[in-house]
Amino acid sequence: MNELYPWQKDDWTRLQSLRSRASQGLLFQGQKGIGKLELAINYARALLCEHPLDDGFACGKCAACHWFEQGSHPDFRFLQPESETEESDAGKKPSRQISVDQIRGLADFMGMTAHQGGRRVVIIHPAEAMNANAANALLKNLEEPPAGLLFILVTHKHQALLPTLLSRCLAFGLAAPDAATATRWLAAQGIKNPADALAVSGFSPLQALQSANGSDAREKLLCAVRQPQTLDVFGLAEALQKTEQVQVVQWLQQWCHDLISQKLAGRLRYHPDSEAAIRELVAPLDPLNLARLQSVLQTAKTESQHTLNPKLFLESLLFTYCQLTKPCHL
Ligand SMILES: [Zn+2]
Repeated sequence: MNELYPWQKDDWTRLQSLRSRASQGLLFQGQKGIGKLELAINYARALLCEHPLDDGFACGKCAACHWFEQGSHPDFRFLQPESETEESDAGKKPSRQISVDQIRGLADFMGMTAHQGGRRVVIIHPAEAMNANAANALLKNLEEPPAGLLFILVTHKHQALLPTLLSRCLAFGLAAPDAATATRWLAAQGIKNPADALAVSGFSPLQALQSANGSDAREKLLCAVRQPQTLDVFGLAEALQKTEQVQVVQWLQQWCHDLISQKLAGRLRYHPDSEAAIRELVAPLDPLNLARLQSVLQTAKTESQHTLNPKLFLESLLFTYCQLTKPCHL
């Protein structure tokens, strides 16, 4: 991969000078949505690579690089809130925090020696998601760190971290791009009004890209669901598979809410601009089917946090939608 955002070249060069330092905690701090995590991952991969290139990047060819790509490098751990992993048990409310158990779960990892005899890396993202217990547990690890183990804490809210934790880490500030650089980059990603998109996002280029892609996806979805009889399920699922699944289900829930609301009360909440289309669509529909659709979407919302195959998940959901929005006289 080895791809940096254009505004990260200096950061990368500065990082190379830290390679040989024995520092056990690095704090990547900087504005939201500028690629801090991506830089941390690139750095971790480069530290673990057996034959790093002259510019410090991982070679992409050695066994370590291969393991890293597969997500199975034995000397690497990535901690994030459970809500962002797919392993939390169904039914259990996913947590937005990084728990003390997750930090304690590193104990075995910390007790081992590095498989490659060199570095081991733990990335914690976002670091401010650690609750007080987790932060204290981490602090102990930072006080007596095993040799060669590097913690990279990634945050855009370093003021929310324990001062004791901050004092144990070497702060590494990441540069935000200037508006011109960010605008050029957004334009190169195919964003239509890059300067506006950047301003609306609070000058966070990655967020600007995400919301521009998101509104594109929402438009596609809403355009398609108006005409269930001609909806191209496979094509739409393909187009939406990279959008966050929870988000897609939520858009469908809002749409379904308005179908029901129009049918029963003649009112709309989320799509006031589509009144004529919705009125026409719901006229021949069985209200019971709409209630079924609502319940299917409710279940899908939970499932969407664990789905491993977004395309298949969406196909099944869209087929159900088409099924339940067939005029009842057919
Ligand atoms: Zn390599």
